[in-house]
Amino acid sequence: MGDNLEDIEQAENRLANKIRKEKIEIAILEKDNQEKQLRTLKFYLYIQIAIIIAALLLMYKRYPEVSAALTPQRILRYGTYETDAKTDECISNIWKLMGNKKLKLHCPVSGKEYIIDGDEIYCPDASVHGFKKIYSSKGQIPRVE
Ligand SMILES: [Zn+2]
Repeated sequence: MGDNLEDIEQAENRLANKIRKEKIEIAILEKDNQEKQLRTLKFYLYIQIAIIIAALLLMYKRYPEVSAALTPQRILRYGTYETDAKTDECISNIWKLMGNKKLKLHCPVSGKEYIIDGDEIYCPDASVHGFKKIYSSKGQIPRVE
């Protein structure tokens, strides 16, 4: 009887060991598989990125107008009105004053000094340009109204 019990215990142990080993093997296989899938996914991703970059480069080279359109231009002012050269100069002065409020600049048309009121910079006499207001508020792009 005792021998029989030991046999059964040994058989159980062997079985348990076998199961443990198989579990480990399965885990290793699963990991291998995942890594393979990941590698494949990455491979396709890199190919796609390369194709996109190549297409963009081609577009820039072939079509200068596309690259010009995609290059951001600095907006000099807000407002829908047409402005003349002198008014543009006045707006440019407001830009300069936004950089340094201590500058003593004069409006090129009215000849008066700019009005600085806290965060706001005004053309001293926008009516000489034919506008109601030319100003920048709180460091924002100058506005023509
Ligand atoms: Zn002005």
